[in-house]
Amino acid sequence: MDDYIRIENLSYWYRDTGVPAVRDVDLTVAKGEFACILGPSGCGKSTLLNILSGLFTPQRGKVTVDQHALFEDGRRVASEPVACGYMFQDARLLPWRTVGQNIALALKAAGFPENTWNEIIRSHLQMLRLEKYESAWPMNLSGGQRARVAIARSLAIKPAFILMDEPFSTLDEVTGRFLRAELLDLWERTGVTIVFVTHSIREAVYLSDHLYLMTAGPGEVFGRETIDLPRPRQYEDPRLTEIEGRLVNTVLEKWGYFDHKEPM
Ligand code: ADP
Ligand code: MG
Repeated sequence: MDDYIRIENLSYWYRDTGVPAVRDVDLTVAKGEFACILGPSGCGKSTLLNILSGLFTPQRGKVTVDQHALFEDGRRVASEPVACGYMFQDARLLPWRTVGQNIALALKAAGFPENTWNEIIRSHLQMLRLEKYESAWPMNLSGGQRARVAIARSLAIKPAFILMDEPFSTLDEVTGRFLRAELLDLWERTGVTIVFVTHSIREAVYLSDHLYLMTAGPGEVFGRETIDLPRPRQYEDPRLTEIEGRLVNTVLEKWGYFDHKEPM
């Protein structure tokens, strides 16, 4: 079995509402793969990542990482926390800590000995072309720079995998393009496994080896696409447009666009 992350028959509902947020999800990600989960707002993408990070315990199903069960039959099985990087829509840097200190905090939480921090921080800031900003405050950085710090922080802890929850969706178009290309470059250089959540069809096609299509909530996975375009890819590649067009037709109905009488 070469599945690195395996989700089987997983369901999760929030206790206060009792409404399923995700239902009967099956999904696998191979080691070193770039996997995208594509679905509309509210379909349960963030819920799914919160489960994968070990934060939420699903009521049903099984989650396995590197052949170790994390959750099974509604309970947590693993005793250790998952060593994953997590990147959100906003960079979530602590404003009262410098860039370097923000990364140091992640290293501390991940149990890295203090005498290793400086070297790790320096090499990762260099990797993201941020070496000048080690002592800068987050509020003095641009949105793109903050996102790059967040990428550096998620890589610095040598994670088993990285979860990304729409990390570029609030950036302007051009910055977003640069960062996606930069992320792909880092992914290829480090060989890290990435699970990336987005509602953007083009972004998912551009980035992924495989992408999982989710229905509108309660989120079920209804399709899996293999994107085998050679890398490095160009965001403007007409082949991307072709795949994007085909997927738009596939998802429109599933995402409920034909249920509305009025234009959305
Ligand atoms: P997505 O990330 O795809 O936008 P979410 O995972 O955030 O979707 O949410 C999935 C569903 O669960 C939505 O219907 C949302 O309203 C609901 N939900 C999310 N968080 C909570 C919560 N803390 N309590 C109750 N319902 C929630
Ligand atoms: Mg979300």
